[in-house]
Amino acid sequence: MPKKRIYLDNAATTPVDPAVLKEMMPYFSKKFGNPFSVHSFGQEAKVAIDNAREQVAKFLGCSAEEIFFTSGATESNNWTVNGILKSVKQSLIAQKTGSQFSPHLIISAIEHHCVLNSSLAAQKAGVKLTVIRPKRNGAVSVNDVASAIGENTVLISIMYVNNEVGTIQPIKEIGEVVKRVKSERAKNGSKLPIYFHTDAVQAANYLNCKVDYLGVDLLTLSAHKIYGPKGIGCLYIRRGIKIGPSQYGGEQESNLRAGTHNVPGIAGLGKAIALIEKHKKSLPKMKKLRDKLINEALKIESSQLNGSRELRTPNNANFSFKGVEGESLIISLDMTGIAASTGSACSSASLEPSHVLTAMGIPAEIAHSSLRLTLGKDTTERDINYVIKTLPPIIERLRKISGRK
Ligand SMILES: *Cc1c(COP(=O)(O)O)cnc(C)c1O
Repeated sequence: MPKKRIYLDNAATTPVDPAVLKEMMPYFSKKFGNPFSVHSFGQEAKVAIDNAREQVAKFLGCSAEEIFFTSGATESNNWTVNGILKSVKQSLIAQKTGSQFSPHLIISAIEHHCVLNSSLAAQKAGVKLTVIRPKRNGAVSVNDVASAIGENTVLISIMYVNNEVGTIQPIKEIGEVVKRVKSERAKNGSKLPIYFHTDAVQAANYLNCKVDYLGVDLLTLSAHKIYGPKGIGCLYIRRGIKIGPSQYGGEQESNLRAGTHNVPGIAGLGKAIALIEKHKKSLPKMKKLRDKLINEALKIESSQLNGSRELRTPNNANFSFKGVEGESLIISLDMTGIAASTGSACSSASLEPSHVLTAMGIPAEIAHSSLRLTLGKDTTERDINYVIKTLPPIIERLRKISGRK
């Protein structure tokens, strides 16, 4: 392993902040109680959960009862899709109109696989699905979403920020469209609900996530993308929304998400969220370093930036270097100590190019040559200078080997 290691894969996961770890520690051994127990051991664990719920609610501008802890964003997103469809079907069956009705779901083509694959599974089970392609810059058009909405649409799920290209989506504007549809339906006496969900996992560090500002009914967060622990996340569910449970069992999370609480994880999620404001102080510097990285990398021959330059979170840089195989580039960078990732998901043995880059209209060959570098709050100028120095000769060498450009 090289002596120097530089982590530029913060969109995949982030290290736990020392203050978050400190917050979690007592709940592993000293305050190990089950929050559902009546005795003092249980009660001190319950205090931690109540406190974390308040911290998340404050961040989202909602009330604590609207926050539901899950095992992460994958569960929150699966729960949203399956739980909403289930409750709509149940209420239609109760009204005896269920059999001939097929609910309609709208998502974007650049959603994380947990939204994409749960929606495709729902489609196989008879749900009508519309998948909206983004524009070339990676942003979904508000008009495309508006015109996809039909009388049977019950759920729209569009991510706030894409994890591969960092493109910021027009969530507030889509929220306004959905609000208009809601009031039209109310005027027409329609009983069919329409809900708007956003996966805000990659937005939390950078953008306004207040649910009323965004006009969302459901919102997903994950701790390990915001300097918290892995295996913990939450789903915001607006008061009054009918949703089926994520899993059955005990009465945890208002009977909607059974299972003994991950108390250290929940305490860590709350602390990580409480620290976001403080960490925002590092964003101007992060953006400056990221811009320097982009400007220098684009000096390399036959290179391009994937995704919008402006509608982009400050952590993300995503390039394609024509004629360079993404996977080889990642391996070469790793040998010099630089941890990065590629959009060509060869690691999953599929050899399929990124579904995000291809949905943006980027040819498969260019998508295969992509490199994602994502900065974190602790990324330094020295780190970026090292990448700027290391990257061009690696690309030159790989192009010589492949004989392509
Ligand atoms: C990482 C990520 C997820 C999955 O989160 P987990 O908590 O690891 O399940 C979902 N959506 C986006 C946008 C992500 O970046």
